[in-house]
Amino acid sequence: MNKALFIVSLQHELAMAVNNEFDLDKLLKHFIKVCFTRLSLSSAHVYLHQNGNGRPIVIDDQTQFQTRHFLSVPKNKEGKAWQDTTILIDFSQKVIQAQNDISFKQTNGSFLYGFDLPNHGIIIFETRVEFEPIIEKALQPIFNKLSSSCYSNIVYNSLLLEMQARKEADKRAMYEAQHDTLTGLFNQRHIKDLLEQAHFQAIEKNHLGCLIFLGLSRFKAINDEMGHSVGDKILMTLAERLNAISSEQLQVARFSGDEFILLLSCLPKHEQKAQHIVDETILNISKTINLPLTCEGSLFKLTCSIGYNFFPQNNMQQKDIIPFANIAMHEAKRSASLKVQRYEKEMSDKIHLKNAYVKEMKQALRNDEFCLYYQPQYNQNKEIIGAEALLRWYHPTRKMVSPEVYIPIAEESSLILDIGLWVLEQACQDLKILEQLGLPASFKKLSINVSPKQLQQANFKDLVLFNVEKNKIQPKHLGLELTENLLVESFDQSIILIEELKKQGIDCSIDDFGTGYSSLSYLRRIPASLLKIDRSFVINIDQQTEGAAIAKMIISLGNALNMDVLAEGVETKEELACLVSLGCYQYQGYLFSRPVPFEDFLALLPFSATAK
Ligand code: C2E
Ligand code: CA
Ligand code: CA
Repeated sequence: MNKALFIVSLQHELAMAVNNEFDLDKLLKHFIKVCFTRLSLSSAHVYLHQNGNGRPIVIDDQTQFQTRHFLSVPKNKEGKAWQDTTILIDFSQKVIQAQNDISFKQTNGSFLYGFDLPNHGIIIFETRVEFEPIIEKALQPIFNKLSSSCYSNIVYNSLLLEMQARKEADKRAMYEAQHDTLTGLFNQRHIKDLLEQAHFQAIEKNHLGCLIFLGLSRFKAINDEMGHSVGDKILMTLAERLNAISSEQLQVARFSGDEFILLLSCLPKHEQKAQHIVDETILNISKTINLPLTCEGSLFKLTCSIGYNFFPQNNMQQKDIIPFANIAMHEAKRSASLKVQRYEKEMSDKIHLKNAYVKEMKQALRNDEFCLYYQPQYNQNKEIIGAEALLRWYHPTRKMVSPEVYIPIAEESSLILDIGLWVLEQACQDLKILEQLGLPASFKKLSINVSPKQLQQANFKDLVLFNVEKNKIQPKHLGLELTENLLVESFDQSIILIEELKKQGIDCSIDDFGTGYSSLSYLRRIPASLLKIDRSFVINIDQQTEGAAIAKMIISLGNALNMDVLAEGVETKEELACLVSLGCYQYQGYLFSRPVPFEDFLALLPFSATAK
């Protein structure tokens, strides 16, 4: 081949080898491979000036290049890295310092050629045959091209790395914004976004969705008793379980503390079919939660209450879907039998009514709209042995409202504490008047009803004693009625309190007895002095009913435990006769008297002294 043609084709082929490859390693390997064959090399080596992350070093002083061996072809025969060869290292330093192409004849007759890749490194060729100067010259533009190609690659790669790092950071930030830190489930914000999308899609595609709101039962008690680390671990385990049953159609989120949301989308428009799927899903969720779990050596069995809400619905805005499912969940929590509730509009109405009551009860306390009625209690000789104070509220518009309506509402908030305190103060003041008038010998005590929240108040005993002392009344004349379930729920604490009050002369009675779940073993340990048989067992006690059988049992139980037994809600002579025959000698009920205002109650009592 003619020399000129050879040079042109060599240049062409090498230039082609400097292709558009973006991987630096591949680019150089390919280039060297072509040089190897076209220039009959015995070895070739590339040294690059780079810092660790692939960016070119900023060059101030050429001598300060950090050069690293990048690749050698073929591999070292002795298996050593090429850069360990002193000759190569020395030569490469010389090329760098010369900042130009140089050559060197080795003792074995072979030649080393060093070519500068401007700003990027050097390439060293080893040949058995000396290059003609024309070839050396012809290679120069090729190395320039290679150099700029290397530069683009390095810049491209560093950009790529930076983009990847930024993407990773964005991904991490996005993950953190959407997930709960403790459980790794979706967080409240994200589930709201998902709900917005699901709601929109349900309208677009004409199908249904369902938002399931889950609240754990008694989780707070676990947290308080076992510590937050146990609580956290339990939450994590439950989250893992819920996550395991999640799918594209069922997304799971932690809404807050011990509340979770499960968003079920793409349900059939046919409501019965949708309901069927929801029922199955909820069953599955409940089973998942109910599975026992061990944590720090203790076994836990958790239960939950579930409220759910379908969407879209004509008169429900998207922003209301979660709050309404939450309302249904709380309804389920309150219910003794149903642990799953579908949202119904009446639930919201009830909440509005409740909120209105709470507001009005606060006003009632301020405006003195409450008063106490007294229902006398009798013995077999028709003598008054005491009375129960019953709250009455003469509402300006609703007129007389039954305590059965508003006491449970007040009990859900701390308002019951204010109302309970008002009752205690008023009853003590009334009792003072009774004592001043000279109570008949048969009169034992005036009782007030005490709510669970009151009893759990740390200063409850002090409040009672303070009011007794303030009015200078005899403690034995004041009685407290506590319901059976309240006593069982915080058993040890209640027993201590009842005993302390008893030491101060104040007796407690067990109200609504028979409706709760206390067992004989519990009852034996409660230091109360009176059992009040619930009205439901007194009704028709004279007939052979189940209630009658229970009443008989309660009476013999009270007698056996040396407690007084009082029957509530005695309405007929027949009921009274039957109670007498069963050994119950204390009564309260319409047969004797309805609850009456204090003045009317005074009129019923045969006082021994005249009012001052
Ligand atoms: P309770 O403690 O079981 O009170 C007895 C209820 O039975 C009273 O209803 C009383 O009026 C009613 N009653 C008495 N004898 C008869 C009868 O022969 N037949 C019928 N049908 N009913 C009779 P009231 O006053 O409506 O109170 C209802 C509930 O409200 C009370 O049940 C008690 O749980 C609660 N409550 C009333 N006052 C207070 C209070 O001051 N504090 C607290 N915490 N709860 C109160
Ligand atoms: Ca009572
Ligand atoms: Ca009662």
